[in-house]
Amino acid sequence: MTSPHDLIEGFHRFREQHFTDDDALYRQLIQDGQTPRTLVVACCDSRVDPALVLNCAPGDLFVIRNVANLVPPVESRGGGYHGTSAALEYGVCTLGVEHIIVLGHADCGGIRALIEAGGANNPESFIDDWMHLVEDARASVERDMPNATLEARTLACEQRAILGSLANLMSFSWIRERAEQGSLTLHGWYFDMENGQLLGYNPATRLFEML
Ligand SMILES: [Zn+2]
Repeated sequence: MTSPHDLIEGFHRFREQHFTDDDALYRQLIQDGQTPRTLVVACCDSRVDPALVLNCAPGDLFVIRNVANLVPPVESRGGGYHGTSAALEYGVCTLGVEHIIVLGHADCGGIRALIEAGGANNPESFIDDWMHLVEDARASVERDMPNATLEARTLACEQRAILGSLANLMSFSWIRERAEQGSLTLHGWYFDMENGQLLGYNPATRLFEML
């Protein structure tokens, strides 16, 4: 299902499902507004749509998608357009989500390219500029496992990048305060699409474990 024609047909099936009955889901969502309890930061990768992977309905998830599912650290405004930070602010401060999930995934093109190139080196590339957010994770992988295969280093970097994003989430005062009060919980998840499994980071074992 890739052409615009297919997509329009897809919309009509979606409309049939959610708009035709008096108790249709969208009537409720319009009446009550959106009240998602969970915000997900996911990759743009076409294979990892969080609503599909997590089997959610419209209204369930507030979703931020960007290259490699990264969260930048808090920065002063100005000098850039902070789309991810703005969406985090809306989800946390306005919608009051109770959970933030950073959803990484296997075979991430952004991370693999970073590992292959040995860093984000192209000053002309928006992607390379963005991927500087993963530099600490990349450098730690190269330091800790220099002789591992490209696949193993990519996987390690994908998972360490999730931990970097969790740390960066805590740099926003309105996230840190809520997390410390217990009204907001942060999660690091990893969709292993090669094996069809979902893993979650366990701070006690410092491992990603099957959920
Ligand atoms: Zn990706």
